[in-house]
Amino acid sequence: MTAQLHARGDVAVVVPAAGAGVRLGPGGPKALRLLEGEPLLVHAVRRLAAAPSVRLIVVAAPPADVDAVHALLAPVAPVTVVAGGAERQESVAAALAAVPEEVAIVLVHDAARCLTPPSVIERVAAAVREGADAVIPVLPVVDTIKEVGGDDIVLGTVDRSALRAVQTPQGFRATALRAAHAAAADSHTDDAGAVEKLGIPVRCVPGSDLALKITRPIDLALATHLLALPDPDAASA
Ligand code: C5P
Repeated sequence: MTAQLHARGDVAVVVPAAGAGVRLGPGGPKALRLLEGEPLLVHAVRRLAAAPSVRLIVVAAPPADVDAVHALLAPVAPVTVVAGGAERQESVAAALAAVPEEVAIVLVHDAARCLTPPSVIERVAAAVREGADAVIPVLPVVDTIKEVGGDDIVLGTVDRSALRAVQTPQGFRATALRAAHAAAADSHTDDAGAVEKLGIPVRCVPGSDLALKITRPIDLALATHLLALPDPDAASA
């Protein structure tokens, strides 16, 4: 049975958390690395559980750690934990399979974006509720971006004003996400990419600097400082 959180919520969140975290250096699965004494996954699930729209959470954990992850998260929120796969999209598919058919809105949220505030989670859910089939939180790109050839010679400069950096949670009408996963032949780094391939429009909403993806050691150092800042949702309330 799938564990329920907010009974009035209409959203299921799928959390891929089965990655090895090689780019973070040695130290076990990324979602279980510590940030101020708590695993990234605990920080992520705590913020998801604080979003009133969220009815249930399904975590895809490293297969060897399913029971341990369940025990870890039980005091934080009622969650369902399944075994993830070798690729991110396999982990998402495994978690999506545990979402009951009657839940019409599904968000996919990387455990590695563990400081994403509940306000962003609500913003994405609201845009799907208002009628979008697919919604992504984005930020403008601040760096100049160049396309570079294999010989390290610049091929051209990309128009930055049309670019966006994409975060999670990405939100979907459940039927669109299930169709995209069923149709996905090649690997994709985000779920909206698979939905785009079906020709379904993907809508952008504002993301948050706090939704950074913890990938490299410097991200962990940055996240430690961000945790010490005042609660962004309390400030905007
Ligand atoms: O590797 P990357 O940083 O892109 O991973 C993004 C998210 O996908 C992380 O939360 C990671 O735990 C998850 N993932 C997964 N299963 C994999 C690989 C990555 O759940 N096989």
